[in-house]
Amino acid sequence: MMNGEQRELFSRFPLFFRAMHHPESYPANISHFGIQCGVGWYPIIEVLARDVEFELRALWREQLQSPEKIADMDRALLSGRVPYPTLPVCTDISQVAGELKLVVLNGYMCPPDVWTRISASVEIAVATARCVCESCGNPGTLRDVYWHRVYCDKCVDPAVESDCAISPGSSS
Ligand SMILES: [Zn+2]
Repeated sequence: MMNGEQRELFSRFPLFFRAMHHPESYPANISHFGIQCGVGWYPIIEVLARDVEFELRALWREQLQSPEKIADMDRALLSGRVPYPTLPVCTDISQVAGELKLVVLNGYMCPPDVWTRISASVEIAVATARCVCESCGNPGTLRDVYWHRVYCDKCVDPAVESDCAISPGSSS
């Protein structure tokens, strides 16, 4: 069920999608099912993954520059007093009732300002998906009758285009 585009996303953002690469370390839906939404939303997910991957790399680099930070981290792990996981990680991407559902867990070594930026990126992705066709990626609207998904007019009724030039029913 995992398509080539998913594999490509997972390999380009290995920190953000590490639950996918290391399921033994992360009990996550994404490890079992991959991305569970239409390919029209993949570009939105890609933007989010790129932003978060950048933040995670910067965080890790910062740790490496000061051995005492690594020592602090090790001490915290040794004592078992730190919550799981270390760095933010994506555990679920799916479509629920027509909405893009993105679950990103915070990490204990993620400073509040970084987490605020990551949370904002997640919110932007969810908001963007509300008006992007889940099937093809063109502008769309939530079809709250029958479909319960965001589609563009073309994807909902491919016959409309060939039958008439302009569909009069579409509201704006
Ligand atoms: Zn469409």
